[in-house]
Amino acid sequence: MNILVINAGSSSIKYQVINMDDESVIAKGQIERIGIPGSKLTHKPGSGEPFVLETDMPDHVAGMQHLLAALTDEKHGVVKSLDDIHAVGHRVLHGGSKFSASVVIDDAVKQAIEEYIPLGPLHNPANLMGIKACEKVMPGTPQVAVFDTAFHQTMPPKAFMYALPYECYTDLKIRRYGFHGTSHRYVSKRVADFLGVPASALKTVTCHLGNGSSISAVDGGKCVDTSMGLTPLEGVPMGTRSGNLDPAIIQFIMQRTGKSIDEVNNMLNKESGLLGLTGVTSDMRDVTAAANDGNERAQLAIDMLVYAIKKYIGGYAAAMNGLDCLVFTAGIGENMAHIRRRVCADMDFLGIKLDEAKNEHRGGDFVISADDSKVKVVVIETNEELAIARETLDLVK
Ligand code: ADP
Repeated sequence: MNILVINAGSSSIKYQVINMDDESVIAKGQIERIGIPGSKLTHKPGSGEPFVLETDMPDHVAGMQHLLAALTDEKHGVVKSLDDIHAVGHRVLHGGSKFSASVVIDDAVKQAIEEYIPLGPLHNPANLMGIKACEKVMPGTPQVAVFDTAFHQTMPPKAFMYALPYECYTDLKIRRYGFHGTSHRYVSKRVADFLGVPASALKTVTCHLGNGSSISAVDGGKCVDTSMGLTPLEGVPMGTRSGNLDPAIIQFIMQRTGKSIDEVNNMLNKESGLLGLTGVTSDMRDVTAAANDGNERAQLAIDMLVYAIKKYIGGYAAAMNGLDCLVFTAGIGENMAHIRRRVCADMDFLGIKLDEAKNEHRGGDFVISADDSKVKVVVIETNEELAIARETLDLVK
């Protein structure tokens, strides 16, 4: 069974085709600049040369048509016909409080995704466009929505509520939803399998550290808290997002600079975090290089990120009354030994003891804690596409 995984943005579609018999990726690629001059499809078959097509793609339907043509092409295609694509799994950002699991898409699901547009104004409309385009170009193929928020729906009210007037929750649906759920679910389950322990027996903190970063507390396989909130802005400092701050700062900036609320919102989402602190880069590889060259602001940015992560780990260990397992994943978590080393330093009170040599390993899933560490510290490669494909398969097989 082959599953097409779609991650649709407002002007882009990223995709993978996964053969679920052996979970191999038989093709992947992306379409950029949909509806903008210079539309481009880059298609990489599992083996063979990438195929690049530059032609006008005015909307997502046109993009999907070119994508499917590439998948079934005689030369660079990977399937004989569209009948060999058995289902489509869509990454959908916001499922609000309605979806605690993935679902087969029908009219009611599409309507709900639409209803949650105010909560995911950039992503949900794009995700819907991807769904509708697929329905149009491959009618009859089952489609599944896999929500970034779903895994976090098990949080108790004390974790997901904000201490605002209660009507903000009942009328405006303001609460913590959390994001990166597909990744947190995948790595928290994978680490249990990897350690040979049932997920139900583990208290785990999962640190998804990429351009966007979030940290989750997973008790017995269920998410009980997570660092991102109503939107992905809350939590630790990220590539360009501020993470937590005193909400009064927003009004203060507006009064002092004359910036509008949209400008301040843009500042918090696009001009803050590593980029804002260093003034030059949102990319942790560049921040690290600058810090090594003696750039004090880059060093401060790293210090602040590490400190924020430590506080979440400590807080979540307290919330769960214990910690068995600490997971690092995503671009920074998987690849940056110095960040892991610093996060785990001076955490022996909590039972975290790193093995410095193991921590320098690269690639795959691996344990980085010392043999006598009470808490197992593990690097797990996240794979959101595979997770989406698995959930899709479960629902359609
Ligand atoms: P996204 O949230 O966009 O999926 P990633 O998970 O790819 O982001 O993480 C990107 C971050 O990881 C950047 O800060 C980057 O510097 C850092 N990073 C470090 N090493 C690597 C690597 N080998 N590949 C990709 N990103 C890396």
